Amino acid sequence: MNISHHLTDESIQDYASGSLSMPMETLVACHLTVCSSCRNKATLAESLGGSMFDDIEAVEVSLSASDILAQAKLMPSHSAPSVDSVPKTAPKITGVPRPLGRLLSAPLDELDWRRIAPGIKQHNLSDQHRKHGAFQLLHLEPGTVLSAHSHNDRELTYLVQGSYTDETGTFKMGDIADLDGHDHAHQPVVDSETPCIALIATQSPVNYSGVLGKIMQPFVGI
Ligand SMILES: [Zn+2]
Repeated sequence: MNISHHLTDESIQDYASGSLSMPMETLVACHLTVCSSCRNKATLAESLGGSMFDDIEAVEVSLSASDILAQAKLMPSHSAPSVDSVPKTAPKITGVPRPLGRLLSAPLDELDWRRIAPGIKQHNLSDQHRKHGAFQLLHLEPGTVLSAHSHNDRELTYLVQGSYTDETGTFKMGDIADLDGHDHAHQPVVDSETPCIALIATQSPVNYSGVLGKIMQPFVGI
């Protein structure tokens, strides 16, 4: 899989130290199943207790990568969650990363999608109030344009299938959009020929720029 968009070091550290919410942790785990680059960083961060990125440049001056990995293996391991901790009894939902598949009651095309706008369907994975953040799948028909919005807080989007493009680039299957509250407003446009399915986790409601977005927000739930 050709991955173009990765997790930030900050998110990998938070994952390794176990401080992410369950929805955020699930999205990170999905990306780690397909991205060896982020997986290696996460493994290293878990070995070193999730606080190594601040020091890694100093370490690299005197040690090679294999030295660092050998050193990491000697250090006590912390109990950060990992992809390997997924229960073996999870239902077999194929075609999606296992951390997502274990949360689904049916394959993607058989889920109870709720239509929330033309071209947009939603499947909620959490029943918490949206003011505490969203955890949901969005099913977007080709050509769908989402309302422009910005963020107060971290938002993770994992591309399950299809693709979209916004001001920050094109996101395809396996990519993760790792946005913090400092990002500018963006407006994703679905540019794949097949529906785009995205897994989204937010920590607080997003800020819609336009009137339509503000009107839609209670229905979209993010
Ligand atoms: Zn990655």
